[in-house]
Amino acid sequence: MSNLPKIAWIGLGIMGSPMSENLIKAGYQVTGFTLEQDKLDRLAAAGGAVAASIAEAVKDADVVITMVPASPQVEAISYGPDGILENAKSGALLIDMSSITPQTSVDLAKAAKAKGIRVLDAPVSGGEAGAIEAVLSIMVGGEQADFDTAKPILEALGKTIVLCGPPGSGQTVKAANQLIVAVNIQACAEAVVFLEKSGVDLTAALDVLGGGLAGSTVLTRKKDNFLNRDFKPGFRIDLHHKDMGIVTDAARNVGAALPVGAVVAQLVASLRAQGDGGLDHSALLRAVERLSGAQV
Ligand code: NAD
Repeated sequence: MSNLPKIAWIGLGIMGSPMSENLIKAGYQVTGFTLEQDKLDRLAAAGGAVAASIAEAVKDADVVITMVPASPQVEAISYGPDGILENAKSGALLIDMSSITPQTSVDLAKAAKAKGIRVLDAPVSGGEAGAIEAVLSIMVGGEQADFDTAKPILEALGKTIVLCGPPGSGQTVKAANQLIVAVNIQACAEAVVFLEKSGVDLTAALDVLGGGLAGSTVLTRKKDNFLNRDFKPGFRIDLHHKDMGIVTDAARNVGAALPVGAVVAQLVASLRAQGDGGLDHSALLRAVERLSGAQV
């Protein structure tokens, strides 16, 4: 029997599936629950155990990891008679890796403490590829001792793992991350349309741009999406719309102005309103093409 902590994993989507599989590869015993049967089958095929409910998944777990879309889902899986707080062992560590509002994380940490459950907010950056390759950046909020407990587990999922401050701090840093990524994608998308309309070879242009100061992880990771107009997610526009709401709201609360971020938030919202919410966020290119007169 392994001495490693027993893990429960709730939320086996685009990110949660490969992340939980990396824990299994690292030797952890993982019991999972999610809403789609095919994702549960995938976990079983990877060597995980499948639970029929949240309560069943978390009852024997030392560590519960959650990776669901947004604050309402984190609240739904955490609270109430069928939720994590009511059914996990006292002393368990809950690591929420979803990207949610900082306030939701602060409230969850407080509610969990009353039940003897410790909480870290630990949202990630690096996308589906970063999840598969276990090279995510993980920004953590919570207590130092809980971070120390979580660190070996998080090291099986990511490369850059930093405690940013008290509960909610990880989410605040993630909100800043999403601001930077959205603005960067938008700039790349505008450059792509400009280059194509100018008749420049796009592959050559993006190659050389990637090697200079304009280079970025966004440009490297999304180059093929732009070149092939391949907008299979990845990271869905719907989720980035949620994140732009989080960052603009959090910034307003502290009196920080985000003039460019506010415009990009509107462009993301517009793309979603035009039916592109299920596409990868590199589909911001479609919005720029439409603004430039293309029929896409
Ligand atoms: P996803 O929609 O692919 O997966 C979400 C999963 O949560 C689904 O499998 C769903 O079954 C599960 N879920 C929802 N409600 C549930 C409930 N009540 N009980 C059990 N399971 C439930 O989303 P994703 O792309 O994996 O993103 C997850 C989180 O990670 C989001 O907060 C997102 O913003 C963040 N994130 C995503 C990426 C990315 O590239 N996809 C990158 C960084 C961060």
